[in-house]
Amino acid sequence: MKQIKKYLYPVIILIIFEVIAVTLWLTKDNLFYLINFSYIGLSVSLGVFLYIKKYKYARRIVQLLVGLYMLIYLGIICGENMQIEGFWYYFFTGVFEAATIHYAVAKIFGPLIFGRGWCGYACWTAMVLDFLPYKTPSKPRKKLGWIRYITFAVSVIFVSALFLAKVGNIERIMFWAFIIGNIAYYLAGIALAFVFKDNRAFCKYICPITVFLKPMSYFSLIRIKCDKDKCIDCGKCRRICPMDVDVTDNSRKRANGTECILCMECVKNCPKDAL
Ligand code: SF4
Ligand code: SF4
Ligand code: SF4
Repeated sequence: MKQIKKYLYPVIILIIFEVIAVTLWLTKDNLFYLINFSYIGLSVSLGVFLYIKKYKYARRIVQLLVGLYMLIYLGIICGENMQIEGFWYYFFTGVFEAATIHYAVAKIFGPLIFGRGWCGYACWTAMVLDFLPYKTPSKPRKKLGWIRYITFAVSVIFVSALFLAKVGNIERIMFWAFIIGNIAYYLAGIALAFVFKDNRAFCKYICPITVFLKPMSYFSLIRIKCDKDKCIDCGKCRRICPMDVDVTDNSRKRANGTECILCMECVKNCPKDAL
């Protein structure tokens, strides 16, 4: 029974994505949403299935399936800017399309359910950063998280300035902002990973999207919890965590709790199955 129960998770995930896919398809009268969210749902549920089967690279497969699809197909081929400036562009024009839908589902309201699952399984920036050699940070986190508010403010000011200056063909500018922005993100992310010996340094200090992700994921329904009766306080989960989360503390205020990307490394490595 327990065996069957665990295979329900990929099915439930697929159903949730299908509900979003069908709802958006019908309300927006656009078949793209059905195909888009069905594909993402299938990719995520395949990853969860592979994880249950204890396949080592399950999370990486989802990252590549979703990340490459969004970066290459949606971003470069279809010309949709799904970075933060693309969100502000659609937001200011009052259009609930593309980037605004993407942000609403993955980065603003979705995290109330699946926390920062986006960061662990779908982000095309982290998809590349996770290939770098520093999977587990060797030094304590620096107090540099304030930089994210600057990059966030720059994104708002950049798009506002385009509107205020009545610049023509902003859509074209958004396409190039996506290309140049991604190159800048990759260069900064790779450089920071080597400087701090931490693959996720960019996520911890620079990424503007965390301004949305962190407060929303504080309330996340899906969280890693610790069974205190099994835990022997060996500290392995804290040492292995790429985001420095104190996962043995079950409170929502645990250290770096809003940084958890649900990568499951702590769960896989706990010697007592306490997580
Ligand atoms: S913090 Fe930013 S760069 Fe890192 S995984 Fe999340 S969205 Fe991507
Ligand atoms: S790895 Fe497991 S046993 Fe060790 S501290 Fe973490 S939860 Fe407890
Ligand atoms: S290792 Fe555990 S606590 Fe750390 S980010 Fe991954 S799932 Fe979250």
